[in-house]
Amino acid sequence: MSKRDFYEILGVSKTASAEEIKKSYRKVAMQYHPDRNPGDKSAEEKFKEAAEAYEVLSDTDKRSQYDRFGHAGLSGAGRGGFGGGMNMDDIFSQFGDVFGDDIFGSFFGGGRGRGGGQRARGVRGSNLRVKLKLTYEEIAKGVTKNIKVKKYTGCTTCGGNGAKDKGSIETCRTCQGSGQVRKVQNTFLGQMQTVTTCPECNGEGSTITAKCSNCKGSGRIYGEETISIDVPAGVQAGMQLSVGGRGNAGERGGAPGDLIVLIEEDTHPELQREGLNVVFDLHISFTDAVFGINAEVPTIDGRAKIKIPQGTQSGKIFRLKGKGFPNVHSSYEKGDQLIHVSVWTPQNLSDEEKASLEKLSDSPNMKPQPEKSEKGFFDKIKDLFN
Ligand SMILES: [Zn+2]
Ligand SMILES: [Zn+2]
Repeated sequence: MSKRDFYEILGVSKTASAEEIKKSYRKVAMQYHPDRNPGDKSAEEKFKEAAEAYEVLSDTDKRSQYDRFGHAGLSGAGRGGFGGGMNMDDIFSQFGDVFGDDIFGSFFGGGRGRGGGQRARGVRGSNLRVKLKLTYEEIAKGVTKNIKVKKYTGCTTCGGNGAKDKGSIETCRTCQGSGQVRKVQNTFLGQMQTVTTCPECNGEGSTITAKCSNCKGSGRIYGEETISIDVPAGVQAGMQLSVGGRGNAGERGGAPGDLIVLIEEDTHPELQREGLNVVFDLHISFTDAVFGINAEVPTIDGRAKIKIPQGTQSGKIFRLKGKGFPNVHSSYEKGDQLIHVSVWTPQNLSDEEKASLEKLSDSPNMKPQPEKSEKGFFDKIKDLFN
């Protein structure tokens, strides 16, 4: 497959400044970020493609190689960093600082980027996924939930670095602590310098001579943590909330992963959610339908009274405005509660009861007169959406 032009991928001109390239990369990466596109392989590919383009265009040397020779100038010896495929943790550890300095940082999970030109430490912890089941009442108002999660947490004995004590951390001899090694290679394009992660220390710049006895050198232990999650009002089943930095602790001081919370809805014994609206089926007797009644109905916020007028037909829908769910994206918008009336036709009557009804059955008032009293089914549906 032929590779796409790096400038085209980031949507910048060939003369774009470093700042423009950084800005465009951030925009593209935000759009295709895996947390925003869960399970979407093509978004993940675009996310990686953008990172690869940024890797080259953000580096003055690589960019000039690319400008002169195109992709050929970077293939094989000229391509630093990631070799063939790029994995997500590489992207976050290399480019995390792009996101770290503004509000987008929180979207990227806060501590995910290693930030500030600091040398990579340890291995980033993985994201944790948990399901959280909420009642209609909790969804309507928003709720803070404390959940117990089994996960890796930082070792408190060594402070997460995995070493027995300070004296057992040594500067890496292979890279002299820089975490990177340089290689000069001869290629058909001339001599090229490659910078790669130090294989001895995995880019950490230091090695451990004696391991912490509590965590066996990993800097983390498996245990349980209670995590408080603020759920905003109006969430829906299938939504994901991301809590930055509350996933698994990284190895040897690496940044923690994120906690991804998948929202589920508990069923309600009487109510049914339809988007922002709540539907309630109200069953009334034949006589209540004839004479009218003040009925009490459940809502997601306690009980409410509703007047059912005399002569109400089965299938009639009443609306309690603003008694539905709030829109999670705009706190001013709220759904309604729809009360769907069913008139109960009696099935077991005594002979006496049957006789008194039979007396009425010939009265012209007992004959259905739908065109006068009640709108058709389709008109009612139309009304609901107006
Ligand atoms: Zn330890
Ligand atoms: Zn090293």
